[in-house]
Amino acid sequence: MLLKDKAFCIRTVDYSETSQIVTLFTLTAGKISAIAKGTRKIKPSSSSASAVEVLSCGSLVLSYKENDKLAVLTEFESSAVYSGLRKNLDRLNAAVLAAETIDKFLKEHDPHPELFRKFAVFLKKICDARQYAQILAKLIKFQIELLAEIGSSPLTAVCVNCKNPYNSKWPAVFFSCAAGGIVCRDCESGFSDRTALNDKLIKILNNTAVSAAEAELKSLEAILLDYFAYLAAGQLKMARYFRRL
Ligand SMILES: [Zn+2]
Repeated sequence: MLLKDKAFCIRTVDYSETSQIVTLFTLTAGKISAIAKGTRKIKPSSSSASAVEVLSCGSLVLSYKENDKLAVLTEFESSAVYSGLRKNLDRLNAAVLAAETIDKFLKEHDPHPELFRKFAVFLKKICDARQYAQILAKLIKFQIELLAEIGSSPLTAVCVNCKNPYNSKWPAVFFSCAAGGIVCRDCESGFSDRTALNDKLIKILNNTAVSAAEAELKSLEAILLDYFAYLAAGQLKMARYFRRL
């Protein structure tokens, strides 16, 4: 079977001296692992074939059989639309973290075309982001979109324990990863993993506010990273770059 599609590379692993295993996030077929033969550069000048890198994006041709674990990447024509990512380490780290999260939470051959488009928008927007707070805000927006896409949106309408509806007059509000949502002050003592939130951060989680101070965004990002770690039963590798104070 041949698949012609658009794709982002979201993970690479060296397989042999000349080959890589690449994980591709395709527009129409979702996540697909493939072997890319002859693409691994041994020395920068030794080969005309260039390595497929994480965040490469372009048109590809894959061939695969129904029961094969790995497809074969036969063509990959990379376009350079997101070159701004590599001009700033914070942008690049945010993009690689998002790619790692897609890889972690999507199943193979499970199409998510809407998430594909949102990932493309996210990458384009962070290419233009100059301040760390802007990069964080865009990363958080994409992470919330991804959680919605996989059916794991955090519950923010009511306290997950007593079901009391949330409103901005609550004297305090907390987030519990284990409970998957917010907890009120009366119930918080029963949730050992709780972290304090505030009304603005809840609005960001609900996609009804877009800006906040850098310190607030950092605390929300830390909560989201904890939540992803809880869902995946392990920390994302790139999380360490976003836990600094
Ligand atoms: Zn409660």
